[in-house]
Amino acid sequence: MKIICIGRNYAEHAKELNNPLPKEPVFFMKPDTALIKDNGDFYLPDHSNDVHHEIELVLRICKAGKHIQSEFAHKYWDAVTVGIDFTARDVQQQLKEKGLPWELAKAFDGSAPIGSFVAKSELADLNKIEFSLLVNGNLRQKSDSTEMIFSFDQIIAYVSRFITLKTGDLIFTGTPAGVDAVKAGDELEGFLGGESRFRFQVK
Ligand code: ZN
Repeated sequence: MKIICIGRNYAEHAKELNNPLPKEPVFFMKPDTALIKDNGDFYLPDHSNDVHHEIELVLRICKAGKHIQSEFAHKYWDAVTVGIDFTARDVQQQLKEKGLPWELAKAFDGSAPIGSFVAKSELADLNKIEFSLLVNGNLRQKSDSTEMIFSFDQIIAYVSRFITLKTGDLIFTGTPAGVDAVKAGDELEGFLGGESRFRFQVK
């Protein structure tokens, strides 16, 4: 499986990092070794001193597709959860300045913890999916899917123009404002609506 991540998909977050709003989705990928499930511990990588949390809605792809039209895109995902797109912000800044790829900042082992999935059929409102992140019990990020610049349908249509989606692939759909550094000892808890989907420790 592969992990596809959308960047700059919330206007307030683009603003907080001084990035322009994209005209087309920006995406990058993480390897399967980035994934952490079942509330496993997150170990801070030793190549960064500024690892940020980015909570995001994560879609699970349920059938293979290429050149998916946006009106059919909803048929290609069957479940959603929240996950963290951990980002070595200091490294990312250096890579951006040099025009280099982002893998060292985004794709390191453990950089993609995810929560337990909720079936699409169990969601109360598909058009407004609320989510939030608590760090040590304090609210750090909160938003909902109506704040996205590019919708799930648009993301699936765009990405599948270039890359075939397969069953089991995951799409991280971008983070809202409020990203910040984590430190050893922090506890991160992610919510979809009012329900806790993950809770893990930073080591
Ligand atoms: Zn992100």
